Amino acid sequence: NAPIPHRPIQALPDQLISQIAAGEVVERPSAVVKELLENALDAGGSQITVRLEEGGVKRICITDNGKGIPPEQMPLALARHATSKIASLDDLENVNTLGFRGEALASIASVAVVKLTSRTADAAHAWELEGSHLGTVQPSSGAPGTTVNVQDLYYNTPARRKFLKSEQTEFGHCAEVVRRIALARPDVTFTLTHNGRTIDHWIASDMAKRSAQILGEAFAEARIAIDEASGVLRLHGFAGLPTASKSRADCQYFYVNGRFVRDKVLVHAVRAAYEDVLHGDRFPSYVLALELDPALVDVNVHPSKIEVRFRDSRAVHQFVFHAVQRALAQTSATAHGAIPA
Ligand code: ADP
Ligand code: MG
Repeated sequence: NAPIPHRPIQALPDQLISQIAAGEVVERPSAVVKELLENALDAGGSQITVRLEEGGVKRICITDNGKGIPPEQMPLALARHATSKIASLDDLENVNTLGFRGEALASIASVAVVKLTSRTADAAHAWELEGSHLGTVQPSSGAPGTTVNVQDLYYNTPARRKFLKSEQTEFGHCAEVVRRIALARPDVTFTLTHNGRTIDHWIASDMAKRSAQILGEAFAEARIAIDEASGVLRLHGFAGLPTASKSRADCQYFYVNGRFVRDKVLVHAVRAAYEDVLHGDRFPSYVLALELDPALVDVNVHPSKIEVRFRDSRAVHQFVFHAVQRALAQTSATAHGAIPA
């Protein structure tokens, strides 16, 4: 046996720390799209454009008309663990922004060529910063708001690049992320282009219209509106009737405080509510949003924040189950000629 060499313990360089973090935060182009869209929404953007090239691998460029970043803060936006969204543990426990970890832009900038262009409402012109937080901020042009341009994803981490799938597959994941976020925010106008072609364009409207546009007419014609509140919990959105069910679980959108989540407790509660009306091999379609006091749910479970942990998951399960079941029972009663409750 060869002796184990004695290597000194060393602090890792910044760039390498970010590249390691990027493995979690930026698994593929769609994860970049998600992070940039969340930043655009946190900045109060009401019009957001997503431009992709070659499935996002060649280029992801997201423009918003939000509040912008003052030039002196632009380097910090690209620095690791720097955020304007929380400042204390108390803030973390009551977080009401989509982001708060302060690592997305730094991670992305460590595995791609990033250019940040931003202009605040009161600034005379825009400013730009390219590369990393070590670059220099320079005058630029553009309307108020922010553009983040991400070029050549994983150009410096070839091992990661090998895991990417075809352009169409990566684009499909990106488009799905845009759909998820657009469903949560019908009040915002979204545009998605791929290789110069406009793929989606949704004008700001309401949840009824947005979900019909995104989930299609079949869903729009066979769904029931839900809006129920109990104590600190509120559930609203649309549950598809059995005729809008699918053979795959690909039309299931659940949001907790505006964040798309995949949560066993919630999926189970909804599935159980459909028990009496839906055949076991069919999957219900739904767009449901649960709102609750942010202190009652922990979103800091995973870097992508797709998982959550409820303080009282039994209460949440009960509430969601009953709300959906009641809604479905009403329609089946109407369908059989009974008077709805
Ligand atoms: P986080 O969103 O967790 O704070 P990010 O790395 O995504 O971390 O962003 C760092 C900071 O850069 C944000 O806290 C915010 O102040 C600023 N920022 C990023 N994107 C935008 C944007 N589109 N508009 C305005 N500010 C932004
Ligand atoms: Mg962010």
